[in-house]
Amino acid sequence: MSDPFRARIRQALADSTLQAALDANAQRRLAARAAATASLPDWSARRQRAHAVRAEVIDHLERYLDQFLTQLHLLRVTVHRAQDAQEACQQVLAILHQTAGPNALIAKAKSMVSEEIGLNHALEAAGHRVVETDLGEYIIQLRGERPSHIITPAVHLSRQQVGQLFHQKLGVPYTDDIPTLTQTARAVLRQVFLTADVGLTGVNFGVAENGALVTVTNEGNGRMVSTLPRVHIALMGMERLVPTLDDLALLLSLLPRSATGQKLSVYTQLLRAPRPGQQRHVIVVDNGRSRLRASPLREALYCIRCGACLNACPVFRELGGHGYINREGAIAPYPGPIGSIVSPGLFGASFVHLAQASSLCGACREACPVDIDLPKLLIRVRAGQLAPPSARKPAPTPLPFALALGLKLYARLARHPSLFAASQIAAALGARLLSPFSPWLRLPAWTGWGESRDLPRPALRPFRLRFGNRPLPAPAPSAEPSPRIPLSTEAGPTPSPPTQTAPSPSLAERFHTELTALGGGVIRCTWADLAHRLTEILEERQITHVFVDDFGARHLPSGFAPVRHPDPALAVGLTGCAAGIANTGTVLLLDEGESFKASLLPATHLVILPSDRLVADLSEALPLTRHAANAVLITGPSRTADIEMTLTIGVHGPKEMLVFLVDDSSRR
Ligand code: SF4
Repeated sequence: MSDPFRARIRQALADSTLQAALDANAQRRLAARAAATASLPDWSARRQRAHAVRAEVIDHLERYLDQFLTQLHLLRVTVHRAQDAQEACQQVLAILHQTAGPNALIAKAKSMVSEEIGLNHALEAAGHRVVETDLGEYIIQLRGERPSHIITPAVHLSRQQVGQLFHQKLGVPYTDDIPTLTQTARAVLRQVFLTADVGLTGVNFGVAENGALVTVTNEGNGRMVSTLPRVHIALMGMERLVPTLDDLALLLSLLPRSATGQKLSVYTQLLRAPRPGQQRHVIVVDNGRSRLRASPLREALYCIRCGACLNACPVFRELGGHGYINREGAIAPYPGPIGSIVSPGLFGASFVHLAQASSLCGACREACPVDIDLPKLLIRVRAGQLAPPSARKPAPTPLPFALALGLKLYARLARHPSLFAASQIAAALGARLLSPFSPWLRLPAWTGWGESRDLPRPALRPFRLRFGNRPLPAPAPSAEPSPRIPLSTEAGPTPSPPTQTAPSPSLAERFHTELTALGGGVIRCTWADLAHRLTEILEERQITHVFVDDFGARHLPSGFAPVRHPDPALAVGLTGCAAGIANTGTVLLLDEGESFKASLLPATHLVILPSDRLVADLSEALPLTRHAANAVLITGPSRTADIEMTLTIGVHGPKEMLVFLVDDSSRR
């Protein structure tokens, strides 16, 4: 290990604030993930299927990329390909030059690729202003730091540190009250969303069959920056593809559960065509991925960036993300177990020593929702296998004579089972004779042997003799390649044992249970009393004007004024929806009229959901988005846990969500 790395490790271990923050993060994330995965009885079969989907994409990457890019062209999305970080930054700058001119304001959602290519630095050097809008990213941008976790960038900070930061940088009175800090950020960033020239997001998945760019967020900032500015730029690693919407449903059943312990994130967007009056650009970034794909580390490209391996890793839990540095002391964009593979794989040998920061205990692989064999890849990095075998240089110096001789002898023994067994018996005998507890060998007292530790004595019968004749255990069922899994088996909120006799809850009951558990509200009514129930809610809040989409306008009771354009004074938005998903308490909105803005900008979102639009799960809802210009799945009010992992409702999107679940049989 290099010296700066050792120094950083010592520094991290001595930082009690960091240690407390990392402990709290790990405990809560692991508990949330365990609860979320328990809601899918076929979790391990899904993992295997997801592994196969990612392997299929990486094996046939050119084909899926061609299909995806063709779809984007048909959708009038401008596509750019970047070979490296410099080219990607130049392409963003060129788009800014064409569309916004000098000194542009860029509202940016979380994007690991932008971290990887050093985009903020390039934009600021060119005179532009870039503002991170994810709460955790905003905090670390104010501190001039890099993210310390893939999912929770400010995990290393306490609420007091954030309070001091906001006091110094934003001029607000000091507080360590997390909801107040969140509201401060909301007020500052709302102005950025409304005035930004360009919005920039990452991409969680690109769907090859229909060109959808999928983004997964909780706060609503990703929706703001892709909906409000005239120009939307999406930065995407070239490997982030899934073949079909079915495959997307599978991966979305695993990603949020592994990342944050949610069944679905609050906002899952499927962006396709540019919105009216908007330009959309996609930059597909290679930056070393083609090289990684041809190397023995290829499997690292299966990663869906959930962060679960970081939370599970005992080394990350002591070190934190800022501890993963290269030989020159620069922080790796990707930390933790996957970062210790991807960083040397993408950025070269100066990150190789990071692979030593692992106990190889296997916890990372166990946590990985796409079953990447992380320990195997870490060992390959340690062995310097960063390039394809043909491109690897021979070892520059021969092995020391004694080591070479020992390895040769071992290789000979290992090829002959009887010789190997005999050598083990000889070694055990020798160990007993030379042991400090041997009657033939008395070590002097000053050696300290036996004072405080009891050295286990070598077994009389070696392991091979004791276990050699045992039959091998049958392989675990989950190790078998699994057939395609129908997602309709996804568990509801309260999975029942197979012996249950009680009837399954109806879709309406399941939807109600799920959404209320997330802090949303459900009002069940008939078409006849919908107007009355809406009036009650609006009068209670003293609302006179309502931001509506077409469906909302048709059902707004008389006495209230419908508004069809965004206005910061509007506190309530009223929309319809294309579907409700019972198992997750989600509503699906298609981008029609003002539905995207009416469901996002006001503090309260009211949704009308006819009961005949309820479906069981995501796999039944996603086909409805196949030909839609854009769509969003909304699962409860907006939320964050970016400060001390404390849940805070109402960040950039609505803090209240009420669904009027209308019994559709009442129409007949
Ligand atoms: S390697 Fe697996 S667990 Fe780690 S971030 Fe990637 S998908 Fe998640």
